[in-house]
Amino acid sequence: MQIIRRSADMTHWSKEVIAKGSSIALVPTMGYFHEGHLSLMRHAAKLADHVVVSLFVNSLQFGPGEDLSRYPRDFERDSSMAANERVDVVFAPTDEDMYAPDFNSRVSVEGLTEFLCGRQRPGHFEGVTTVVAKLFNIVKPHLAVFGQKDFQQLSVIRKMVRDLNWDIDIVGHPIVREDDGLAMSSRNAYLSEKDRVKALCLYRAIEHGRARFAAGLTDPEQLTAELRDIISANSGVSIDYISVVDKDTLADKKIMDINSVLALAVRVGGTRLIDNCFLGNTPESEN
Ligand code: AMP
Repeated sequence: MQIIRRSADMTHWSKEVIAKGSSIALVPTMGYFHEGHLSLMRHAAKLADHVVVSLFVNSLQFGPGEDLSRYPRDFERDSSMAANERVDVVFAPTDEDMYAPDFNSRVSVEGLTEFLCGRQRPGHFEGVTTVVAKLFNIVKPHLAVFGQKDFQQLSVIRKMVRDLNWDIDIVGHPIVREDDGLAMSSRNAYLSEKDRVKALCLYRAIEHGRARFAAGLTDPEQLTAELRDIISANSGVSIDYISVVDKDTLADKKIMDINSVLALAVRVGGTRLIDNCFLGNTPESEN
């Protein structure tokens, strides 16, 4: 496995691979790997001849007062974890390489970014689409794998690729959870022991939502009221949003159906955690 630091070197590597007729899968990450990241890498390895994992904590997607400076980082650990997978390259560019002092361009997707996390994190998705656009141009992948955990991000990237005619397959991968149900996240590292227990309320809410939908509940307001109760039962936990949205438009649903996604963002002791579940078929089953 190679570690590449400069985007020019990355593009050179990719062009050589492509010239030989081989395919490239890209897995974009911000590092601090867990099983969720590794499952994306394994899935990517099944779909292409070569796997590039990008590791870049993208300052552009963090708002003022968010956790950019304390975002967990451990490059040594990450690179040895990636080396144990079928990863050809870890592309870990420097900030200067990605964002020259005169960097002045943005890629932004309208519409889908106005819902859910977009409401609470202005500029976040523009930061994501800008860095992913750069990564696509640098790495030149045939496909890219993203986690369903960040389901709005996945929708926004799919839209960007469609709108801008990028010839790249966007592949979604299911959420990987801890044994007790907590969705894996690099940010789980922030949780104290007590908050780690409280954080389980997200999964309890997801399970409750699934069960109520399966039992025939179709009123999203009734469901979100019940979920608010489940989550608010924990002290020090606050709700950013609990929403039932359309899987394609991300607009709020008036009646829950199999095209609905239950999505939530909750702060546990200051750590913002997200989770979601599809009430019908997941898009991964369409891949
Ligand atoms: P991050 O490093 O948090 O930006 O995540 C990099 C990629 O891993 C994104 O596509 C995420 O959606 C995905 N990812 C993060 N956590 C999980 C998880 N628990 N299960 C599946 N994919 C995940």
